[in-house]
Amino acid sequence: MKLYCIGIGPGGVEQMTLRAARALEKCDCVAGYGLYLDLIAELIEGKERIQTGMTKEVDRCTAARDAARAGRTVAVVSSGDAGVYGMAGLLLEVCGDDPAIEVEIIPGVTAACAGGAALGAPLTGDFACVSLSDLLTPWEVIEKRLRGAAAGDFCIALYNPGSKTRTSHLRRACDILLETLPPETVCGLARSVGRVGESHTLTTLGALRDTAADMLTTVLIGNSRTRVVNGRMVTPRGYRGV
Ligand code: SAH
Repeated sequence: MKLYCIGIGPGGVEQMTLRAARALEKCDCVAGYGLYLDLIAELIEGKERIQTGMTKEVDRCTAARDAARAGRTVAVVSSGDAGVYGMAGLLLEVCGDDPAIEVEIIPGVTAACAGGAALGAPLTGDFACVSLSDLLTPWEVIEKRLRGAAAGDFCIALYNPGSKTRTSHLRRACDILLETLPPETVCGLARSVGRVGESHTLTTLGALRDTAADMLTTVLIGNSRTRVVNGRMVTPRGYRGV
């Protein structure tokens, strides 16, 4: 039995790969968070939906596995890439070593890349991704990773910078980065990329600590070489000025 795990990109249909669209075509049942299913509504018309809430990921994977076991061709969809803070690992764990199920993971455009492109070209060199969500990761671990990324002069993509209940995480993260990085470090916010209401803002690390960011936003923090070029965030290709 085939079980697809598909990254649909940050905004759905337009930012999906052809491989993802073709796999969806083969499915008769699609599992995902309701908002993501709505983003790809035109591609899944008439297909059965396994729809659960944001925090019901285990239930969703289990239901998808059971539908596959029952002979359906099933897709589990994630926003962005399914393996980046997504469902792919969980789905593989839930399916375990069941020989009847073959899981095919189809990559998608992750928010760091889509947000980077919207802002310019901030991720030209080495970069690190850090999620500020401490739902599954202890805050001390997040702090350690932020300090490591700052020490390594990585460009940093911050996922999950805030939510209704996590309002101070971005400020706390900025304060940790400011222990190492100068306040004029170039930063950008990309919100709702590929979706209705998309917006982009350039700022500095010093100002970012007083900026509100929600769960639809990815924050890009430049390295020591990142500059603003004609309103775009640009990290040059090398340290030798070329
Ligand atoms: N699997 C996803 C990430 C899920 S974590 C991926 O690869 O992109 C959820 C976080 O991703 C959000 O809090 C936000 O930081 C980022 N994100 C997801 N969709 C986004 C979008 N359309 N625009 C900007 N950021 C987005």
